[in-house]
Amino acid sequence: MEMNAEMLGSIKKSIRAAMKGGFYAAHFKGIHAEDIKSREDFEKLPFTGKEDLREAYPLGLCAVDEREIVRIHSSSGTTGTPVIIPYTQKDVQDWAVMFARCYQMAGVTKSDRVHITPGYGLWTAGIGFQLGAELLGAMAIPMGPGNTDKQLKMMEDLKSTVLCATSSYALLLAEEIKKRGIKDRIHLKKSLIGSERWGEKMRRRIAGELGVELYDIYGLTEIYGPGIGINCQKQGGMHMWTDYLYYEIINPKTGKQAEPGEIGEIVITTLQKEGAPLVRYRTHDLTREIAGSCPCGSPFPRIDTIIGRSDDMIKVKGTMIFPGRIDELLSSIADVSSEYQIQIDHLNGRDIVQLYFETALEDGQERKNLEKTVEAAFKEKIGLTPHPIAVSMGELPRSEKKSTRIFDNRY
Ligand code: ZN
Repeated sequence: MEMNAEMLGSIKKSIRAAMKGGFYAAHFKGIHAEDIKSREDFEKLPFTGKEDLREAYPLGLCAVDEREIVRIHSSSGTTGTPVIIPYTQKDVQDWAVMFARCYQMAGVTKSDRVHITPGYGLWTAGIGFQLGAELLGAMAIPMGPGNTDKQLKMMEDLKSTVLCATSSYALLLAEEIKKRGIKDRIHLKKSLIGSERWGEKMRRRIAGELGVELYDIYGLTEIYGPGIGINCQKQGGMHMWTDYLYYEIINPKTGKQAEPGEIGEIVITTLQKEGAPLVRYRTHDLTREIAGSCPCGSPFPRIDTIIGRSDDMIKVKGTMIFPGRIDELLSSIADVSSEYQIQIDHLNGRDIVQLYFETALEDGQERKNLEKTVEAAFKEKIGLTPHPIAVSMGELPRSEKKSTRIFDNRY
């Protein structure tokens, strides 16, 4: 995004604040905020990675007196030491303000009833959705995940109008509503989906089966949590709250700025955070800048829907597999549903790729033909020949959290 003098000033202020804490005092040793005079100077600063944050465990990231910390959150590290992010009272408030703004952007009002299914606890999701809804003045229904019977009963009895969920849980609920034939008793109008990569086909199914408008909400625990950006009613990418953060899109391999419109990794610098300010934090989320002003009239710049993670790219038989492109490819093939799973194994010195996908086709021959179509499309578009296996609708596992679709069993 653009950097004017005012933005540069805000960034320098944030760098000074960050360097009051032990982590950045060490990470930026020898660097002085006053020497940063231009965008080029700023772009020479070292990145901050998740590994760096892990090393600061437990409270090394804290940049204020620890008595100012009112809450901590922790990012869900799958392995090893978690990352702990401390929040001051202002950080908690700022996050709620950004989140309330997200709801407004989606057209949610005080009259809405917001059904919140993401988890509560160390994870930032549930509580962020709740505080934003409360600040807006809507009715928050803090369900948390799981217990589909109770979810649907509350949704029906309380007349929930907004569903907050991961895409896979929204799909699970949509399928359950259809199966039980209770759609006419459900009052949902909108659904806010926590940002993760999800395909067009899944989007159409959730929107169609629930009869809702869908919004992608962006965020990550290291930078407040969900709520730092959302798409508007014009649906042309996500607006980012650049009064609270500055973002760059970089080439994940070279670390240089991506060309305008080119896909790259989003890197974020916080502008107002007190507890744990972050400078040039590598999110590993892949997206691209959307140029120009949005027809909705919002002055906030936009990025595209997250299309994958730079650390999700997998090399098989010398070909880079990119989850976002697989979603895209499968979406383009008729009779292939949005649900799929890829198993990569190493057998007898060779990589074997098995691709399971759901289809509503029942006939054996039709399924065989569809498998051939999928195989040919993969060979042509991705440069890889998988072994496609058609399965019936609902056979692949659904998850309440983010779905894992690619399993690399080679190591
Ligand atoms: Zn817009």
